Amino acid sequence: MKLLEERIIKDGRVEGTDILKVDSFLNHQIDVELFNEIGKEFKRLYADKGITKILTIEASGIGIACIAAQYFNVPVVFAKKTESRNLDQETYESEVYSFTKQKSYIIRVSKRYIQENDKILVIDDFLANGKAALGLKDIIDQAGATLEGIGIVIEKTFQKGGQLLRQDGIRVDSLARVKAMENGQVIFEN
Ligand code: 5GP
Repeated sequence: MKLLEERIIKDGRVEGTDILKVDSFLNHQIDVELFNEIGKEFKRLYADKGITKILTIEASGIGIACIAAQYFNVPVVFAKKTESRNLDQETYESEVYSFTKQKSYIIRVSKRYIQENDKILVIDDFLANGKAALGLKDIIDQAGATLEGIGIVIEKTFQKGGQLLRQDGIRVDSLARVKAMENGQVIFEN
């Protein structure tokens, strides 16, 4: 997605060799107009899939998923990262190792909000090693629902997540694919 790539070049900041900071439009301050274009693109890609629900993970996925959901006219469910007395007792759970925080945590989704007949689009901001996406897939599998695909805003193709998921036969659509980050510069696939 050209618009997104241009924005990454303009406002993205490379940290070390493998972290891309996009706080000014995606992870802290949110550019709603850009999110709208991202939402439209996910809708274009999955228009014929009969999506019934969008699943994401807190926190950064929620905004993207909500704006995309307006084009699909379906609810958004987000996996929670913290245990809370408010959350239903009956939950699907999965363990996820965080690439950015370098520790594992449990994600939870109430059993009320995913059903066997759901056709689910997973949406997230970044794809690195694929742990968050695999955790969400695990929850979908536990519910007996169908994972139609994974929509990612920025995939870092030099990390192994995309390959891992696609090898498993999972459809992955990334709107920007970062091949490398060298001397503070972002290089895209093709
Ligand atoms: P994975 O589970 O694929 O290893 O990592 C994906 C998750 O880690 C995303 O949900 C995102 O929050 C975070 N993440 C991974 N790499 C980056 C990065 O380069 N920049 C930012 N901002 N977040 C990242």
